[in-house]
Amino acid sequence: MEGVKTVKNKILSFLLIFTFILTLTACGSKNNDKLKIVTTIFPQYDFAKQITGDNAEITLLLTPGSESHSYEPTAADIAKIQQADLFIYNGGESEIWVDKILDSYGKNKDNFLRLMDFVTPLMEENENEYDEHIFTSLKNSQILLDEINKSICKIDSQNANVYTENTEKYKSEIAQLDEKYEDMIKNAKRNMVIFGDRFPFRYLAEDYNLNCYAAFSGCGSETEASPATISDLINKVKEKDVPIIFHIEFSNESIAEKIAKATNTKIALLHSCHNISKDDLENNVTYLNLMTYNYNNLSEALN
Ligand SMILES: [Zn+2]
Repeated sequence: MEGVKTVKNKILSFLLIFTFILTLTACGSKNNDKLKIVTTIFPQYDFAKQITGDNAEITLLLTPGSESHSYEPTAADIAKIQQADLFIYNGGESEIWVDKILDSYGKNKDNFLRLMDFVTPLMEENENEYDEHIFTSLKNSQILLDEINKSICKIDSQNANVYTENTEKYKSEIAQLDEKYEDMIKNAKRNMVIFGDRFPFRYLAEDYNLNCYAAFSGCGSETEASPATISDLINKVKEKDVPIIFHIEFSNESIAEKIAKATNTKIALLHSCHNISKDDLENNVTYLNLMTYNYNNLSEALN
């Protein structure tokens, strides 16, 4: 319960800061006219950026390169959320802190956009929670783009045409990639994908009926992978002659390495897009870039 306490303390300290900011802005310092959008994780950061172009100042709360599941908001983050015209969050178990802000604040929810509300959630394996990695599905991403666009158009209706045009363009690029995945997987030599890592790809696997096996059934928390699980994965790799063992981003890659060594195969990255590295962010790498990179690696692993 330590985490809950910390969040509550942070909310309290925020209330003080917010009152201070209110006093400041009331004194007439007018900000620029750019929309202020705050996002929790990378996919919605990218979606909002693609939709608004240069019209918005978009904040990604996660520090680039950091582990998204251990994120907790700072008082400054909470202040940014409160000052935002639109706050976009995913809404899974990693983000229950958002509910606490909403509860404790009595904030009207109009400018809080919870993305998990718009797609069909899948259950985690052996858990009572919904899997929160909805963004690993290219089909979901198109729905999310539409919803984010609707919210942005509501707060800046003057530019609605431009935003909708940008949305349609990005959606069609994602749809094309989705078709490529479908064709490639339908015609692939094998259907089995092995992860020597956590497993955030339930939605992607569901979209294309991929047969995935991973060292950990979920993504949020990991304990030591059991020797039995690892030897089972090794047997599967040998059985289906799987050439590539996957790990996810910001992983120590040790389990994938172990399996690859035992089977004389190689390892590769399947990027789940939770967060992005500092270099990638600076180089304007997009969600579509990452999912295209995944397509190439997956295609190699299945053929
Ligand atoms: Zn995850």
